[in-house]
This record gives sequence, C-alpha cells and structure tokens, in this order.
Amino acid sequence: MKAIIKQTPAPGGLVLTEVEVPTLGGTHVLVKIKKTAICGTDIHIYNWDAWAQKTIKTPQIIGHEFVGEVVEVGKYVTNVKVGQLVSGEGHIVCQKCRHCITGHPHLCRQTVGIGVNMDGVFSEYIAFPAENIWICDNNISHDVLSVLDPLGNATHTALSFNVLGEDVLITGAGPIGLMSIPIIKRAGARHIVVTDINPVRLEMARNLGATEVVDVRTEKLTDVVKSIKGMTEGFDVGLEMSGSAAAFNDMLNTMANGGKMAILGILPEETLPDWNKIIFNSLTLKGIYGRQMYDTWYRMSALLHSGLDTEIEKIVTHRYHYQDFAEAFEVMRRGECGKVVLDW
Ligand code: NAD
Ligand code: ZN
Repeated sequence: MKAIIKQTPAPGGLVLTEVEVPTLGGTHVLVKIKKTAICGTDIHIYNWDAWAQKTIKTPQIIGHEFVGEVVEVGKYVTNVKVGQLVSGEGHIVCQKCRHCITGHPHLCRQTVGIGVNMDGVFSEYIAFPAENIWICDNNISHDVLSVLDPLGNATHTALSFNVLGEDVLITGAGPIGLMSIPIIKRAGARHIVVTDINPVRLEMARNLGATEVVDVRTEKLTDVVKSIKGMTEGFDVGLEMSGSAAAFNDMLNTMANGGKMAILGILPEETLPDWNKIIFNSLTLKGIYGRQMYDTWYRMSALLHSGLDTEIEKIVTHRYHYQDFAEAFEVMRRGECGKVVLDW
C-alpha cells in the first residue's frame, strides 16, 4: 500500500512510499482510509522542531485525523462490523491505571499517540484498535468526518466552562480556534472575541460568528476590550488556542477577576505568566489534552446532527489527492487556510 512517511530525522523528509498492509491483531480492525486531514502536529513533524526531535522515531507513517471504511475485523472484535464508516480516537490508553479504570481515560499517563508514538493513518490502510473506533454517520460529509479529532479538541476545550451569557476570548483562529466559535455560540456566549495575526483566518472567524476579531499585530486587545459594549470587567472565559506566549499574556491581561481559562495551545517552555494576575485576580486555569473519552465524541456527534456540520464544512478550505501531499503541506505551512484534507 501507499503511505506518507517521515523518512529522515531532519526538516522536510516526507515521502510517499510503498509499505506492507499492516497485519491485523485480534483486537484491531483494518480500515481502508477514505480521507485524512493535516494537523498542526504533522507540521511540527515536518518542520522537525524540538518537540518532534524528542518524540518521533523515523521512519514512521504520520497522521492521525481520518475517516475510512472497515474492511476486516480481528477475531475478538464485537463492537465494529465490516462495511461501517469509522473514525477513531488517536490516543491509546493503558486501561489499567487509576484514571483508566475510574472513567477518566483521557488522563492516562501511559497515553500513546497514533501517528506520533506509532505508525499513523496517512496510508491506504490502517490496523486500528477496535476499542478506539468511533462509528460515523454516513449522512455527515466525509470532509467533516475526517476532522473529528481536532473538532473533539475544540469541543472539549470550548465546553470546559459554562459560557451561557458570558463573554469569551479565543486567542488563535487556527482550525481548532475556528471550530470553537460555532460551538461557543451554540452554548450561549454573548461576546466572542477572536485574536490572530493572520487576516485570512480572522476573516474566517468573523464569518463563523465571532462578534469581534482582533489582529494583534495592529491593534491592542486591551484597547479593543474597552470599546466592547457592556463588557466592563473583562472576559469571563478564555480559550487559549494559539500556542503563543504573547497571546497567553494577552488573555491574562484581559480576564475578569474570577475568570476561567482553558489552555489547549502548546506554549513555548519559556512562557512566563504574570503570577500576580493569576493569584490576585483569582483566575482558574485548566490544561486540555485531547478529548474526553468518550463524552466529547458523543457531544460533538450530537452537535453535528443539530447543524454544526455545515459550519465545520466551511473550515475545510483545501482538498488534495494524497499524491499531491507536498503541496497540501505547503498550504498548511503558509497558514492561509482552514483544514487541508487529503483524499485517498
Ligand atoms: P494552528 O497553529 O494552526 O493555529 C494557531 C493560530 O494562532 C494560528 O492561526 C496563528 O496565526 C495564531 N497566532 C500566532 N500568534 C498569535 C498571537 N500572538 N495572538 C493570537 N493568535 C496567534 O493550530 P491549531 O491546529 O488550530 O491548534 C491550536 C493549538 O492547539 C496549537 O498550539 C496546537 O499545537 C495545540 N493543540 C493542542 C492539543 C492538545 O491536546 N493540547 C491538541 C491539538 C492541538
Ligand atoms: Zn491508563
């Protein structure tokens, strides 16, 4: 089968190559991939940044966002059938630790990431653990189903705190920040202010229902906040979705006392928060990793059924045949896009 692998431990180094179709274990299902989407994580691997150097063992098939069809099931599999349309949770947990057995597997310390710590989904077939399979509804577009993983990040982060009647700041209008906007809107927020440094993405944010967008290269968020009608104390809820230290500090500076921040963006090690703002303003900070298994999956599926799918569809801006993956990665690296989907 064809697969996109990170061949060498250096920047770039992605090649389309021929590999064996994976052998099927008793608890796995063989999925014929239909569509995959490129994640920021794949770009980190492509760029071979410090995180990738520490984490990825080359050569490895990359990718973890997918939708496909089950073509074979292992002999112990009872929850999935041949012919079903599926996606899957990319975090494999140990199922033995305290968190796993008490219903909080998203907190498992032994989490292994598909396409990160082991071969991924940018290939014609993948042997996927049956317990991580999510059965999809054929009435939802395959483009949308290929991005359930980041939509799950958005859902988990956006619904971490109650936003009904609250004012919300989203820093970073990347794909996940964009996906959070219609979710937050449905959850009843009043003002939804979105910051970025990329005008293409800010325009998308506006079209998805942001009440105010701020290009922090040319405007100061603190100034914009002063002009927002009815918002006198600052933001009640903040969703950090940029991975930028500057954005994180913009958020700290504009939160209302007692405000709540959900942090998804992976901040640089040297990020220095103003601790006094956190302490004396009585802020709550919550780190977010992945999705809740499987509360997030149920909730986002229900949201898709109630019309969220048409908004998520707008966030998929580019589609390529998998053989044109190099161009797809370039578009994603330039950032003048929402989600970029590869057709297998
Ligand atoms: P992305 O990198 O495509 O989006 C980040 C956006 O932030 C970009 O549009 C960028 O222009 C913007 N940005 C940069 N500097 C900014 C600033 N100073 N102010 C405001 N915006 C700024 O990423 P994504 O795929 O949407 O993911 C969002 C973040 O979440 C990334 O940091 C990613 O690594 C992280 N992530 C975390 C998890 C997790 O489980 N914690 C999972 C997936 C992604
Ligand atoms: Zn565990």
